[in-house]
Amino acid sequence: MDAMDYGPSVTPRALATEAVHAGRDDLAGLGLHAPPLDLSTTYPSYDARAEAARIDEFATTGARLEGPPVYARLDNPTVARFEEALARLEGAEAAVAFASGMAALSAVLLARAGQGLRHVVAVRPLYGCSDHLLDTGLLGTEVTWTDPAGVADAIRPDTGLVMVETPANPTLAEADVRALAHSCGSVPLLVDNTFATPVLQRPVEQGARAVLHSATKYLGGHGDVMGGIVACDEEFARTLRQIRFATGGVLHPLAGYLLLRGLSTLPVRVKAASASAAELVRRLATDPRIARVHYPRIGGAMIAFEVYGDPHDVIAGVRLITPAVSLGSVDTLIQHPASISHRIVAEGDRRSAGVSDRLLRMSVGLEDVEDLWRDLTQALSAPPAGPPRATAPAGAGLPDATPRPAGR
Ligand SMILES: *Cc1c(COP(=O)(O)O)cnc(C)c1O
Repeated sequence: MDAMDYGPSVTPRALATEAVHAGRDDLAGLGLHAPPLDLSTTYPSYDARAEAARIDEFATTGARLEGPPVYARLDNPTVARFEEALARLEGAEAAVAFASGMAALSAVLLARAGQGLRHVVAVRPLYGCSDHLLDTGLLGTEVTWTDPAGVADAIRPDTGLVMVETPANPTLAEADVRALAHSCGSVPLLVDNTFATPVLQRPVEQGARAVLHSATKYLGGHGDVMGGIVACDEEFARTLRQIRFATGGVLHPLAGYLLLRGLSTLPVRVKAASASAAELVRRLATDPRIARVHYPRIGGAMIAFEVYGDPHDVIAGVRLITPAVSLGSVDTLIQHPASISHRIVAEGDRRSAGVSDRLLRMSVGLEDVEDLWRDLTQALSAPPAGPPRATAPAGAGLPDATPRPAGR
């Protein structure tokens, strides 16, 4: 039986319920509890005429195949369960999964460029590699960078996409999705919702046409699976499926299995980590070693702060917290965006987007908050590697150190 042969639930269900049941509604009927993991690359069929008709149907429409899959680059039942579940969590009609967040963004850009709409309007900051992909025009697209207020004026007849991240990586700057969607008119708005997750924000409900996730982060949640996904309307999903089939950036079924499992704990993970993050922000805000704290209005488990001292000393000084790029795992990670996640963005562009050389980004995990604070505070006091720096006069940092959403 096709994993997608069930309709949406009759009674609307809360997010926490969808997280553990969406994509699994048919299991009890199949006599199963855990979702099956289908690793097949191909599927037997004795009726080649019927296969021909199904392939024609997919080639012309991009609609999901009825019945068993044909070949794993076209469709996979385990991955389809993850897609169904994420679509439900985001309140979207459909979702299409890819090998990574960057493969997902590439597919969106190709989908628009393939329709002759090669121009993209984008708001900085974006994740470093998203910035790089757009700025270099590697896929033949052309970008105009602007702030949210400039989006309407930046749109041209050949604009195929407006892209924003909110809260943005790594400054946690927020954009008003509803206002942006209004500025876009008929041009699709793509929101990278990797940081907020559908637990904190559902951009489709605010007018976004498509939502992008690096599933590698919170959706997987354990730092052991890479993936990407786009939640959107069925019409856009059909184009994305055709691109995925033709270009091959498919999500591996084992990754799909782990991501579906990750979704079931997403709400509890995000809520628990966000509570610890808010507590750390509260302490950092009055800490004289900290020049500025960035934390979005909607909350979340990502925090960023600028230090008076050398950020490299903090990275070198953590013991419990892991000094590593990426985010959204059960354990706490810290990194220096100017050296790592946003290194690939030109220095001037990085700085003007608010990514200061003193900025550290931390993904708060599920450890006890007192243990985290103990490690962070000792790392902040780590002996400087170079000559001592001037410390701020007592109280001088306070007005600036109030936690607040960073403006763009
Ligand atoms: C990591 C990340 C990406 C890229 O995702 P990959 O899975 O690493 O390809 C895109 N957007 C944001 C906000 C990210 O943090």
